[in-house]
Amino acid sequence: MSNRQKIDAMLQTIEVECSFTKGFTGRSSLLPEVMEAMRLVERQNFVPSILRPMAYENSPLPIGDGQTISQPFIVALMTDLLCPEKENVILEVGAGSGYQAAILSLLVRQVYTIEIIPALAHRAMELLQRLGYGNVEVRPGDGYHGLPEHAPFDGIIVTAAASHVPPALKEQLKPGGKLIIPVGQPYMPQELLVLEKDQQGMFSSRNVLPVSFVPLTRA
Ligand code: SAH
Repeated sequence: MSNRQKIDAMLQTIEVECSFTKGFTGRSSLLPEVMEAMRLVERQNFVPSILRPMAYENSPLPIGDGQTISQPFIVALMTDLLCPEKENVILEVGAGSGYQAAILSLLVRQVYTIEIIPALAHRAMELLQRLGYGNVEVRPGDGYHGLPEHAPFDGIIVTAAASHVPPALKEQLKPGGKLIIPVGQPYMPQELLVLEKDQQGMFSSRNVLPVSFVPLTRA
């Protein structure tokens, strides 16, 4: 199978999983622009070379340092839940391989992504630069505190499981913005939450789907 065919198959699997999980997510399909970004970003570049043959399977894969690149369906779903718009500035906590940031970069004006493991931060930074994703900035550090110097953000996406929603991230969200975050205990199913901040700064929260993420660690 050619890469093109593998990517098409991945997109079809995402659509199927979308209809399976509709009862949870309320979404029977994802935004066309999100699917297009999933089609354009070559996931094979973000996995270790030995795992390249599996790059388009709908499963998480190890990326070193005990961390994983998320399952394509979850990347697509979380991106869709953000409702990204062209002018948006988005913060990601948990850069990992840089794949989620690359997807976002095709949909918004600027992406900041924080990674707590310096080696991964460095690798993601170099890779994204080399592949030409010029509107992504990778920051090494603890994303629990967000990135105050570039706040507020139109949307925030956390790709590691937190025991609670970090208060700094709520503060750094614009009114009208969305915060997508898996909340729960490590190594147990967590709940993927969508928090929305209204114009008065009040939050509403919705549980979307049980998920399984590596833990959000602290510096
Ligand atoms: N979004 C990534 C997958 C993330 S896996 C991708 O597309 O590949 C979760 C990542 O979050 C790991 O790399 C982990 O090191 C990082 N992480 C965990 N706790 C963190 C924290 N407090 N701040 C920033 N990154 C964190």
